[in-house]
Order: sequence, then C-alpha cells, then structure tokens
Amino acid sequence: MTTKIVIIDDHQLFREGVKRILDFEKTFEVVAEGDDGKDAIHLVEQYQPDVVIMDINMPHINGIEATRQLIEKFPESRVIILSIHDDENYVTHALKTGASGYLLKEMDADALVEAVKVVAEGGSYIHPKVTHNLVKEYRRLATETVNGESYPFNGEIRRPLHLLTRRECEVLQLLADGKSNRGIGEALFISEKTVKNHVSNILQKMNVNDRTQAVVVAIKNGWVEVR
Ligand SMILES: [Mg+2]
Repeated sequence: MTTKIVIIDDHQLFREGVKRILDFEKTFEVVAEGDDGKDAIHLVEQYQPDVVIMDINMPHINGIEATRQLIEKFPESRVIILSIHDDENYVTHALKTGASGYLLKEMDADALVEAVKVVAEGGSYIHPKVTHNLVKEYRRLATETVNGESYPFNGEIRRPLHLLTRRECEVLQLLADGKSNRGIGEALFISEKTVKNHVSNILQKMNVNDRTQAVVVAIKNGWVEVR
C-alpha cells in the first residue's frame, strides 16, 4: 500500500527537500506539488492523495484558508500544516480548520516521515514544541484573572455584558470563530475600521494583549461558543 502525498509550498527548494525525504520511504509517493493554496482543491481532486502537506504563508491563498476550503469540499482530506510559526494562534486556527497535523519547518526528517505515517492512518501529529506552547498558554490563562476577577466557566454561555457592549460581544464571538477584521465587518455589515475600534476596545476592557488571548480568555470563561 502506497501513501500518496501532495506537497503545497511556495518555496521550490523547500518542496524539493521535503519531496526527497518522503520519496526515500518505499511506501511513500509524492504524486504532485503546488506552489499556492489555490492549487489545493484541484490537486486533491486530480490525484486523490492520502496526505496533503501544506505551507501557511503563500502568496494568494494561505495554507489555513486552503485547508478550510479543502476540508469543506473533501471532508476526508488529511492535511499536515508545515509552518515556521510555533505560536498557538496559528496552531489553533490550523486545527480549527480540520488539519490533522502541525509541523514546524525546523523539524528533522524522521519527524516528517513519522507525521505522514500517523496522519495517513487517520491519527494526528503535532510538533512537540507547538504542543508545549499551547499547554503553556493554557496554564498561564488558568492562573490568570480578568480585571482582578476570575470567571470560572460552568459550561453555560454567558455574555460578559458587565464588561463589553452587546456589539463587542458579537465581535468577540466572531473573533473566536477565527474571522479576520474583514470577515467580521462583512458579518456585521460594518467597516473594517469600525471592527478595528471594537477589537481594540475589547482588548483594553479584557486587559489582554492580543486577539488570541482575548479568544482564549473568552472560551475559558464561557463568553463565546466554540462552534
Ligand atoms: Mg511559504
């Protein structure tokens, strides 16, 4: 049984390196390569790979968006994100799109081969450094409070109306859904600039530094639905 693999990455040299490592395995076959997320759907349609290896930063459609589109069209697709980013923002988004694996480009060849094997068999593989960062972030949040108070999440969605306006609560939910400023603007029929203002007010009121922290705190407190 051969594991068919598609590699999508905008750097040709990197693609070649990955291909060489994978082709070295007798049971692997790299059946196609693409240099942008926009190639993902037609390559999968054409070659029906067992595993897709996907870069994040690419010129037209990034790997996270491409993965989202791919899983929507072919829910059985197994995608390994291969990225330089180890912060949990990227990882969370990647996993929310339905990726089965997340590897860092700093990995060694064995980890790449292992990840493809595990994911091809229906498992998931996350680079240990990434897992470590995720756990660290959750640990940090577990010991933190918002504005001096802690809000233990009891499983029920409660809007933080003591803290945020109704509109800000809507924006927070859309942030948790992984939407960009533009996406939030489109969903609420407001301009991107207005969205930016809402987001900065939310961060300030929640006393957090960035959108990811806001989302994690919101999830932890049950202020947003994880959907
Ligand atoms: Mg790239």
